[in-house]
Amino acid sequence: KISLFWFRRDLRLEDNTGLYYANMQEKNVLPLFIFDRNILDELEDKKDARVSFIHTQIKNISSKLEGYGSSVLVKYGKPLEIFRGLCEEYDIQNVYTNRDYEPYARDRDEAIKNHLKDRGIQFLDFKDQVIFEKEEVVSGSGEFYKVFTPYSRVWLEKFKNTPPQLLILDKKKNNFYQTPPLPIPSLEDMGFEKTEIEIPPLEINKPLIQKYDTNRNFPSLKGTTRLGIHLRFGTISVRKLALEAADLNSTYLNELIWREFYMMILYHNPEVVHKAFKPQYDRIPWRNSEEDFQKWCEGMTGYPIVDAGMRELNATGFMHNRVRMIVASFLTKHLLIDWRWGEAYFAKKLLDFELSSNNGGWQWAAGTGTDAQPYFRVFNPQSQTEKFDKEYKYIKKWVPEYGTDSYPKPMVDHKFARERALETYKSALNT
Ligand code: FAD
Repeated sequence: KISLFWFRRDLRLEDNTGLYYANMQEKNVLPLFIFDRNILDELEDKKDARVSFIHTQIKNISSKLEGYGSSVLVKYGKPLEIFRGLCEEYDIQNVYTNRDYEPYARDRDEAIKNHLKDRGIQFLDFKDQVIFEKEEVVSGSGEFYKVFTPYSRVWLEKFKNTPPQLLILDKKKNNFYQTPPLPIPSLEDMGFEKTEIEIPPLEINKPLIQKYDTNRNFPSLKGTTRLGIHLRFGTISVRKLALEAADLNSTYLNELIWREFYMMILYHNPEVVHKAFKPQYDRIPWRNSEEDFQKWCEGMTGYPIVDAGMRELNATGFMHNRVRMIVASFLTKHLLIDWRWGEAYFAKKLLDFELSSNNGGWQWAAGTGTDAQPYFRVFNPQSQTEKFDKEYKYIKKWVPEYGTDSYPKPMVDHKFARERALETYKSALNT
């Protein structure tokens, strides 16, 4: 008999909750990873950097597991079908995994759990990708929070009272299934290719985090950690990072709380994936001009801070948070394009794409979300530039032709666009 540990968005051996408990409680633990066709078949870009990132991480984990005399069983297909096959192929005791709060993942896990249950196999899932989940941070009356500040207060208090423990596997006392290395399908086997896009290194840069509160808003500085992709795929443990952050910089820790806040919002309101958190905002008659959207995507709006951001995103898969807010405000307010269009574009391009934070960020910018920027506050790209890229360093890096004739004129006048946005929002909300 074997037990499986199913890796999903927790691609590490160290401080991995489900993997740790599988090794504590079972014999013959065989780690499993599934390249999920329900997800991969939807990706248009066959050079998607996130797929090669995952592929590399699985190879790394597999070679580390050789040190334990084990390996990863790697499958390519639809998870429920893969589990059907595994139940035929192996005599399975139990299946261990870490919880995933996204709507697709919850449905997938429920179906698999039921399939296994019919065969007398338990599906045991653990909290791993967050410090606090589901109903762990709620108000006195047990309600989930809809605004960040009280949520973060309770979160912090809980964190101080019950700091997370790191779970480290013992090299000698583990219970991995002993097997020679198992084959891993190549990217090409799955219809993907390697990309040239660079992945930010996996490091906790202490001096950078110490200065986070002073530097984080300036896109020309290396003032943020770029750990987003590592948090997304669990190549870093959020517990380890949060414990470090608590010692180094409270503003940084606060950003990790934002991450959990949006995950909690998505968990309790899975409909936000398609709908405005505040339903009345779905009455806004978006202009949705394809032509305008194209200019925004390509970084050809004639607003240099917006264009710099979009070009950074297109070239690197990253965009600085301050600039994400500016481009999102520009798309929704200046161009009156549905936030869902921008959200989908970011989802395709961002290395650190995270459904809950991306949705939260877009709904915040569009004014439709939980703790939203009020709709009557429209970012002025020029004054944002003066505040955060005063010397045009970031702009010059990404828009080298700025100031020459080849750079486009602003596609829409700021004052006109601002008034149009206010008028549109106001009349939609008053009807
Ligand atoms: P750092 O500033 O070093 O922060 C460390 C980590 O904290 C981040 O990696 C992230 O996990 C978390 N974090 C930081 N800021 C936020 C925030 N405002 N909300 C939630 N978590 C945060 N973040 C994503 O992880 N994925 C997304 O798809 C995403 N889409 C966004 C879309 C819009 C329109 C906006 C305004 C913000 C979005 N964010 C998203 C939040 C934020 O911009 C990024 O987390 C951050 O820029 C990533 O860079 P970093 O890793 O250097 O972050």
